[in-house]
Amino acid sequence: DGVMMSALSRPSRMMLLVNPQSGKGQALTLYNNHIQRMLNEAGVTHTLVITERQNHARELVKDADLSQWDAVVIMSGDGLLFEVINGLLERPDWEEAIRTPLGILPGGSGNALAASINHYSGAPPVFSEELLLSCGFLLCQRLVTRMDLVSIHLSSSPRLFSFLSLAWGFVADVDIESEKYRHAGAARFTVGTLVRLASLRVYKGRLAYLPAAKDNREENPPLPHCNHQAPLSRDPPCQNSFHNSCHSNNSLKVRRAESTPSRSATKAPTGPPDSLLLPLDQPLPGDWVVVKEEDFVLVLAMHQSNLAEDLLAAPDSTPDDGFIHLFYVTGGISRAALLKLFLAMEKGTHLASNCQHMVHAKVRAFRLEPSSPKGVITVDGEVVEYGPLQAEVHRGLARLITG
Ligand code: ADP
Ligand code: MG
Repeated sequence: DGVMMSALSRPSRMMLLVNPQSGKGQALTLYNNHIQRMLNEAGVTHTLVITERQNHARELVKDADLSQWDAVVIMSGDGLLFEVINGLLERPDWEEAIRTPLGILPGGSGNALAASINHYSGAPPVFSEELLLSCGFLLCQRLVTRMDLVSIHLSSSPRLFSFLSLAWGFVADVDIESEKYRHAGAARFTVGTLVRLASLRVYKGRLAYLPAAKDNREENPPLPHCNHQAPLSRDPPCQNSFHNSCHSNNSLKVRRAESTPSRSATKAPTGPPDSLLLPLDQPLPGDWVVVKEEDFVLVLAMHQSNLAEDLLAAPDSTPDDGFIHLFYVTGGISRAALLKLFLAMEKGTHLASNCQHMVHAKVRAFRLEPSSPKGVITVDGEVVEYGPLQAEVHRGLARLITG
């Protein structure tokens, strides 16, 4: 019967979460006009779930019976996937849950991951509905890659996981101020950038990071035998010895924590432990690089290639390279030079532009301590608690359908 047929071909039971309010409010129309037929023709069985409010998706995936689903796909902006990932990592079975293949169809105004997936596929950049169609086709191929996640410690909020970016200064302010231009769709960032340029300012703070390569090795070795680019399937056991040992270590730590009497009253922490970070109120480890400048125009940490549909901020980033691509622009840059940087970023050529005020480093972890009492920090485009923070990359922790 039909169920057997689909089980014998590529497993394809997807939970498709659509946010009807995302972007210009057209996600449901776009689903009805394009996506439904595309998935049906590709034999992808899916169940449509319309999100009703903020945190609805997060609560749903936190309690869902994940054995029913081969993938969880969202049709919205990046904000909805942020909820899904953090919901999965809040589950007691987070280790298994976070290996659920995740997919994204651009329906929001911030579609950076969708644009990144299009970039990874080698296709030329496309926007709006063309990006949706490209991502729809890639989704139908159901090929799964690993995806890095970055754990982020804020001063008093619980730890978060980020799949996309962390921004402070110019980029974070544009992201938030441009909310009022959301009827413009993805163009809201362009408009916001121009508006913000007029009131360009300097943000004071301290930045430090753990460089990825002390030995000038520019690339991480690939994760071998690890279901890389494997057809979508329910969490095949990972053959990679590095990863297996990493996993068993993690579960050992969790189990120990659970059996410690003093912890038994509190909930066991979920998610992988961070091995590179000391508490925020303690001095940095000796092998970290402390940035001399304390005047910034922006600090931006990227874990995917695209910051927006038309901003290729980290052109050589891949979903599982194990790097945080850290950028900062120091105070003293002119408006004209900053505008030039953002214009070059549309093609991803800003790194070659030799701007003295912009620095790029591949790092494993960083700490940022803004000194002004008020300000904006965004993680994956969402505002988070403002204040000192630190972050560490967890290579290949999640799974992403990249086609
Ligand atoms: P956009 O790129 O348009 O901002 P996002 O995916 O980032 O799209 O969605 C923005 C926010 O909308 C998310 O934080 C999500 O929790 C919230 N949300 C989801 N469903 C609804 C809904 N039905 N009404 C209002 N907000 C919602
Ligand atoms: Mg958003």
